[in-house]
Amino acid sequence: MDRDDLRAAVSNDMTRTIDELSRLVRIPSIAFPDYETAPVRSSAETTAEILEAAGFTGVRVIELPDGVEHPAVFGEAKGPEGAPTILLYAHHDVQPEGPVEEWTTPPFEPSVRDGRIYGRGTSDDKCGIVMHAAALRAWAGKPPVTVKVIVEGEEEASTAHLDFVIGAHEKLLAADAVGVADGGNWRTGVPAIGTSMRGVVDCRVTVRTLDLAVHSGSFGGAVPDALTSLARMLATLHDDDGNVAIEGLRSWPWEGVEMTEEELREEAPVRPGVRLIGSGTIAERLWSKPAVSVLGIDAPRVREASNQLVPVATAKVSLRIPPEQDADEAMGLLTKHLEEHAPWGVETHVDRGEGGAGMRVASDGPAFAGMLRAMEAAYGRPAVQSGSGGSIPLVPVLSRTFPKAEILVYGASDEKSQYHSIDESVDLGDLQRAVLAEAFLFAELANG
Ligand SMILES: [Zn+2]
Repeated sequence: MDRDDLRAAVSNDMTRTIDELSRLVRIPSIAFPDYETAPVRSSAETTAEILEAAGFTGVRVIELPDGVEHPAVFGEAKGPEGAPTILLYAHHDVQPEGPVEEWTTPPFEPSVRDGRIYGRGTSDDKCGIVMHAAALRAWAGKPPVTVKVIVEGEEEASTAHLDFVIGAHEKLLAADAVGVADGGNWRTGVPAIGTSMRGVVDCRVTVRTLDLAVHSGSFGGAVPDALTSLARMLATLHDDDGNVAIEGLRSWPWEGVEMTEEELREEAPVRPGVRLIGSGTIAERLWSKPAVSVLGIDAPRVREASNQLVPVATAKVSLRIPPEQDADEAMGLLTKHLEEHAPWGVETHVDRGEGGAGMRVASDGPAFAGMLRAMEAAYGRPAVQSGSGGSIPLVPVLSRTFPKAEILVYGASDEKSQYHSIDESVDLGDLQRAVLAEAFLFAELANG
């Protein structure tokens, strides 16, 4: 198969690729606690069917331990004897849909508008599943390399079973290169390979000032309330310019693609009068420096608030850490900062949450070079090397389990995909180009 054959095959197959994506998007496979697990199982089974129909053999659902109902899916298509092996990754679980009434069309009813398909999971990451299936179909099920696929079932919700899914199946998954189709394009039509990912740690900090709520008229003025105390503590996480003020965190110089303030403002709908925070280039602030955010607060709702001093309040704080910063160390620094910045001697308790290290991905290997060529041929323009402000906890696990394998992070999403938010979508042209790049990559790997 030459590139023209593959191009024609992928193009002729797009209707099916879109149908399969739609089929997956209709399943609300949210693996968060308190959500039904039946849809997650159903999306695993549908994933298995799609992989099998594409020509993968030995397709099987990998059950998680402890009765957790978020299974992963594995499949394999053997290449010629002695050919290298690539392991392709995606995940079939999705983020909760958020406020349904804010979606233009319902989140689990896929809908095509202006060359994009909308729905929860279209870009994160059900497109990855159909990409892998379509890339194998482009080779008529006979790839020039051995292609393995692993599709995880709780990526958005937990990292608790990553070591089980990857580490406990080391032999099954062993590969010379790994294609993580959970990244994305730089812009619509402009491909990117991820070379750097921030890590993340989070915690819940609880502040208590009183045994129970008391009248604010009787005691306010002398007794501090927990919510004000918590707000003062949280305010110390940044300096006046919005730089992270937690001592001891590190940052690195950024060497990849740059981003302008205009581009950022187009991507994130920042209100016009709001100034950006932090110092350094935009790329540094997003990808190689730490960032801290308050994600939520448990306190009385305004509607229910009465004239009482709030005795206790809790906040969830999330800290993004630059690649190469140790996650435990960062968690310790965050905890220490919060405890040391408790005002007025209030009682403080920090519950440490889950954490994962970030990573820099090597860009000097043959698979990386092969993917650059594959992307340039598929998209008609060279790929940029981009960072990811979010973390993919899988990547460090992969590199630990398969230290010799090159890891390629890419995907079909783009800057308009709004993954995790309302109106999530993927560009159908980019989906086609991403499939093609993956199909070309097989040939690049086969040619060494
Ligand atoms: Zn994802």
